[in-house]
Amino acid sequence: MTTEGKMTRAESIDYSTMDAAIGQNWYLTDPNLGTVMDKYIAKDERQSAEDTLTRWGELCGGPIASRAEVIDRNPPRLDRYDEWGNDVSTIVHHPEAIATKRDIWEEGPIGLANSGRKVPTVLGSAFTYLLSQSDTGMVCSTGMTGGVEALVDKFAPPGVRERVLPHLQSPTFADSWDGAMFMTELRGGSDLASSETIATQVGDGWILNGDKWFCSNVDAGAIATLARPEGADAGLRGLTLFLVPALKSDGSRNGVHIKRLKDKLGTKSVPTGEIDFVDAEAFPLSNPKSASDSEARGLNRMMSMVNGSRLGVATMGLGIMRRSFFESAIYAAHRTAFGKRLDELPLMRETLVRMVAAIEGVSAIVFETASLVSATGDESARRLYRILVPLSKLRGARGGLELASQAVEVFGGNGYIENWPTARQLRDAQCHTIWEGTENIICLDVLRSMVKDSAHDALLDRIDAALDAATHPALAPTKDVIAEARRDAQEVIAFLGRADDDVRQLHARRAGTLLSDLAQAALLLEAAQEELDSTGSARKAAVTRFFVRDRLAAGHPLRGIDEDRSVLDLFEPITRYAPIDPNVLPSGV
Ligand SMILES: Cc1cc2nc3c(=O)[nH]c(=O)nc-3n(C[C@H](O)[C@H](O)[C@H](O)COP(=O)(O)OP(=O)(O)OC[C@H]3O[C@@H](n4cnc5c(N)ncnc54)[C@H](O)[C@@H]3O)c2cc1C
Repeated sequence: MTTEGKMTRAESIDYSTMDAAIGQNWYLTDPNLGTVMDKYIAKDERQSAEDTLTRWGELCGGPIASRAEVIDRNPPRLDRYDEWGNDVSTIVHHPEAIATKRDIWEEGPIGLANSGRKVPTVLGSAFTYLLSQSDTGMVCSTGMTGGVEALVDKFAPPGVRERVLPHLQSPTFADSWDGAMFMTELRGGSDLASSETIATQVGDGWILNGDKWFCSNVDAGAIATLARPEGADAGLRGLTLFLVPALKSDGSRNGVHIKRLKDKLGTKSVPTGEIDFVDAEAFPLSNPKSASDSEARGLNRMMSMVNGSRLGVATMGLGIMRRSFFESAIYAAHRTAFGKRLDELPLMRETLVRMVAAIEGVSAIVFETASLVSATGDESARRLYRILVPLSKLRGARGGLELASQAVEVFGGNGYIENWPTARQLRDAQCHTIWEGTENIICLDVLRSMVKDSAHDALLDRIDAALDAATHPALAPTKDVIAEARRDAQEVIAFLGRADDDVRQLHARRAGTLLSDLAQAALLLEAAQEELDSTGSARKAAVTRFFVRDRLAAGHPLRGIDEDRSVLDLFEPITRYAPIDPNVLPSGV
């Protein structure tokens, strides 16, 4: 991997030479990520992105990953009162957590932007993906800071914007403020219409009173939250989006009181608290009097941030998928059973290949979605983004949980023990299916994107484009199965269109799963064609074929039980990212 002292991307990964995942450069040992960057990052920015990710991969695979284990055992604590009994609601972080926060601030997207470098959204997603592999809780802080920064930049009243934005974009860690968003109340997180926090106008300003039940990054300097102005409509229409800085305009503490920190299953590096707003000074980020203007409505502005956060959570899940595979591949290359290395055993080979295929499928949909973030003004891209966000979150979050659980099993009994790397990943991964919308809510959001935006049309067009591009003969059998699944999807969409609302909701998960897997398969197929064109290798084609065989070809007479042994024969190049000759692919799926 070293050419004249310079780290470069590996040609083929040999897990048997690695003692552990921590200590590796997690960018250079992940050729799929490099290929995705080749696809989506403009040529003139590619080398700079390569240098940046090489540095970031070293940090995430090294110090940040090591510290994450320490932070997990020494989570943030709340010092609510000072020695005089004053409520100071202070969160005390372990020094290792501060060191990681500093690295993220100075070397992550904010640091890059401050050094005058461009950070395309796809590169931002690569940052998230790598960081999530080491410490997914820390991604929560960075993601929310980015979201609040965008809201303040666009919507904060003059004066407030000038006071708050420089901290959210600070060139130095010492002056930096994190962002947070507090929406969930005791009465409900999915059903925000039940929010009871009240906003009262006092002179030209506003104060908030009420409580919030789940507040991650609770010690952030800038909080975005929802409250109902006195006399406003009930339900969602009456909610206004407010900014609540931790410090008042006069520099004194604002009325944000942390009642306690949650004792969480995982993601311990980020403090999640319950808070009271008591006469908290607040500034509207949406028009409190314009319930009829839908764009300016509080919830809609908050939701514009939530879509970005949901994509972030999908990417966090993807990160845990990748960490789970990487740990598993190294373990299986060292551990023996029945006189063989684990990775020589047929069932283990299939397990590892299945993990690779799942990662590359979610990676395809997540980075495609990230590439659409800035495609404003293009209606078709907007609608595609609209549906790809929940489809990514559905499979990315669940995939993190599934692969983390799988990795625990690959490690056997050791996997269940906290001093091995897999147990924390499993605890952390569970959060992603809940954060930013539970899985049911995400499935309903897929339906909403179809009913309100006809977003499925944009999705089907994108799938058709990927199918049309796949012209290599080695792809033909795989392409046929995807085309058949696309026809099934069209029937499902038509059925949902005429079904009663309760029946439609009943099938939302099945429909979301089919559409997500179909989108992943089509994007994988496109990537397989691109790889054949650029290098002549059919490795991606083999991965796509396995994905399709596993997920879409369910109607196969013996449900996949046949003479096909491609998983065994192609195990090494698939899991080690080495080239495959197209002629060795089986002729069917
Ligand atoms: C570690 C952690 C950190 C968090 N941090 C934050 C934060 O910083 N800010 C914040 O605002 N929130 C935060 N949350 C809250 C999170 O967003 C909510 O927990 C989540 O949105 C679900 O809301 P709820 O807990 O009220 O569950 P409920 O809304 O009560 O849902 C309970 C169950 O009912 C299901 N359900 C609800 N409605 C429907 C429906 N229409 N159809 C079918 N099923 C339905 C849900 O899928 C779920 O399974 C955090 C949560 C966790 C676990």
